[in-house]
Amino acid sequence: MSRIAYVNGQYVPHKDAAIHVEDRGYQFADGVYEVCEVWKDNIVDMPRHLDRLGRSLSELRIGWPMARKALEFVLAETVRRNKVHNGMVYVQVTRGVSRRDHFFPPQDVAPSIVVTARASSPAAAEKQAEAGISVVSFPENRWPRVDIKTVALLPNVLAKQHAKEAGGKEAWYVDADGNVTEGGSTNAWIVTRDNKLVTRPAESGILKGITRAAVLDLAKKEGLSFEERAFSLEEAYGAREAFVTAASTLVMPVVKIDDTVIGNGHPGMVATRLRQLFHTVTDLKAV
Ligand code: PLP
Repeated sequence: MSRIAYVNGQYVPHKDAAIHVEDRGYQFADGVYEVCEVWKDNIVDMPRHLDRLGRSLSELRIGWPMARKALEFVLAETVRRNKVHNGMVYVQVTRGVSRRDHFFPPQDVAPSIVVTARASSPAAAEKQAEAGISVVSFPENRWPRVDIKTVALLPNVLAKQHAKEAGGKEAWYVDADGNVTEGGSTNAWIVTRDNKLVTRPAESGILKGITRAAVLDLAKKEGLSFEERAFSLEEAYGAREAFVTAASTLVMPVVKIDDTVIGNGHPGMVATRLRQLFHTVTDLKAV
């Protein structure tokens, strides 16, 4: 089936989808993005994703490319046109097209917007979750504003490639104090020996994940005890369980960190249960 992308007001075949060479996203990584899960013909947690998009835009002083309601429609329409039943929808907004110059372009330059949607296999994801993934630690080397979901992902690309070449699926950033911040494209969690869920506070050092927020809601609903606090790589090595969260992976058990096997080397009970119950706490918008 041919894929369709939405580019600056038009739905176009994927092969013709293009952005100008002087788009500031291309030249300066001057843009932001969101990824929403598509689950059984629903866009998951779209309100939270669009709230975060609005925050990212406002932190960078980029305008909304269209009214929020219109954007909700475009996301759903892109999912529909691509016949994606399970997968994800991606939206990217940049500061627009202008002659290359570091300074912001004139006020009348409109932001650029691209929306794409892609199917993925729930069966393949479940298989991965049943096996669990390995993560590889990596020194934190990103700018301090990782709370903004910008397209400037070069450090994440390099960290994740390092992890892949070392046999892992994800990189875990470790800061100067020896604490895990987050993954290259996921938030990081552990379950302590006394069964407490722990994830780093979202005030600084991490992206405030939408999946993370849903898992915190789920932990409350299920009466699980949890703590938002920093945890060290050493503590993670000795944890009962570990897992990562993101819209693209949901709750994904971690069974190995560097050379250390976590727990009994199999996905933990807490992570598995959180994965099973995940969609009971999410907002679902039918496409
Ligand atoms: N942290 C980073 C660096 C990410 O890139 C992502 C997702 O792309 C996340 C965390 C998880 O965020 P979310 O749950 O909103 O997908």
